[in-house]
Amino acid sequence: MEEALLFEQGAPGRCGVDLPEPSRGENRLGGLERTGDIGLPGLSEPEVVRHFVRLSQKNYAIDAGLYPLGSCTMKHNPRLNEKMARLPGFADVHPLQPTSTVQGALAVMDEVARWLKVLTGLPAVALSPGAGAHGEMCGMMAIRAAIDARGESRKRILVPDSAHGTNPATAVLCGFTVDPVPSDSRGRIDLSALKAKLGPDVAAIMLTNPNTCGLFENEIREAAAAIHGVGGFFYCDGANFNAIVGKVRPGDLGIDAMHINLHKTFSTPHGGGGPGSGPVVLSAALAPFAPLPFVVHGRQGLQLVEAPNGEHGGQAFGRVKAFHGQMGMFVRALTYMLSHGSDGLRQVAEDSVLNANYILAALQDELSPAYPGPCMHEVLFDDRFLKDTGVTTLDFAKAMIDEGYHPMTVYFPLIVHGALLTEPTESESRSSLDQFIATLRALARRAKGGDAAHFVQAPRLAPRRRLDETRAARNPVLRWRPPSPAQAAE
Ligand SMILES: *Cc1c(COP(=O)(O)O)cnc(C)c1O
Repeated sequence: MEEALLFEQGAPGRCGVDLPEPSRGENRLGGLERTGDIGLPGLSEPEVVRHFVRLSQKNYAIDAGLYPLGSCTMKHNPRLNEKMARLPGFADVHPLQPTSTVQGALAVMDEVARWLKVLTGLPAVALSPGAGAHGEMCGMMAIRAAIDARGESRKRILVPDSAHGTNPATAVLCGFTVDPVPSDSRGRIDLSALKAKLGPDVAAIMLTNPNTCGLFENEIREAAAAIHGVGGFFYCDGANFNAIVGKVRPGDLGIDAMHINLHKTFSTPHGGGGPGSGPVVLSAALAPFAPLPFVVHGRQGLQLVEAPNGEHGGQAFGRVKAFHGQMGMFVRALTYMLSHGSDGLRQVAEDSVLNANYILAALQDELSPAYPGPCMHEVLFDDRFLKDTGVTTLDFAKAMIDEGYHPMTVYFPLIVHGALLTEPTESESRSSLDQFIATLRALARRAKGGDAAHFVQAPRLAPRRRLDETRAARNPVLRWRPPSPAQAAE
């Protein structure tokens, strides 16, 4: 199962290609030429190909099986998206080309923006953020710019205790302070606790809907009215938009800014598979502060506003990314939108919710649902079903690896003890869900039957067993160094 690093496999002097000797022209490096080795491993082409194919086969992938990670929305990436993104007219354009030569690419951006605005019921969108967390930063910077423009110095951001860690991190990064709001016994925000925290120093609330417990915040309009009542803004974490797309327009709920993870709701690849993309939709109050650049319809066709001018972008807070954002992801997302149509997108939401509830219904007697009643697009269990078994949530998740599954999200949200959060997404068939359910039922029975040893030792069938994740995070070793002579002698 071991796969040595390329550096360990290679040897200096070996090469996969036959290059001609360089011609010895005049040296124009002014004495700065390299004298030592360049430090690349020497390998043949088949050695390189086999190394990467073997690594890819060790990787769990959405193309290899159900990927139940809650909150991440690991859905199928349609091949049609890839085909469109590879068209030379999209794949080979350069961001510095004259706009007259990239009218088609600008039309794609304009059309993605239009779909996002229609689906959310909000009038403006900033396309350039490179991920959900980056979109949060962009939205919060727009909120800050709007507050500064009013001459106010609001500092406090209300964040529910169930929030994704990026929410408080974003607020702090943008110079705000975080004030946590408790959740109630139904897993929703405690509205009276929220109201008690409101005051003239509150800049905004950051709320996720459906929230990280997989539940719809059914008092969201009251929350929006309350925050607006004290002059604050409403930021919505839209990572879970796939559960309500085509069914609910966030603008109708009173939301001022919301990021949309194209790599979640609109099926563009993520994780190791591709860059993220996190456009942010903005209300009329925030639209003037949207970052540059953006596409407008001008006299000579579509144009990019790259610098503030009298007509456009005068109050833009700046830029958040080089050029225009993840163009390849806009093509994929638009392909997904157009191939589904508005009725198909609504069905995405319905089927994602149906699939999660199917798992909930099939497992509720064997596992322990964190909250009563149906869920939205993800199903949340706590660890009560493991009580007195000697098996923890982590052990249970590790045992899933030996069954051929990637584990679900564990220990998140933090407010649920030993949380197990599963998001099947709408792309799974009933038979695939049945197989997953059967596996979890069998594991739960095994834990309750007293076989803790099976779990504590898992995973047995992976190239690595239990990793010291804390050490890996605190002391990452990202660079290979040749062994010292002493090490080599060992
Ligand atoms: C995924 C996610 C984010 C962050 O999005 P990235 O695209 O990973 O940066 C934020 N909030 C929630 C609830 C999420 O699920």
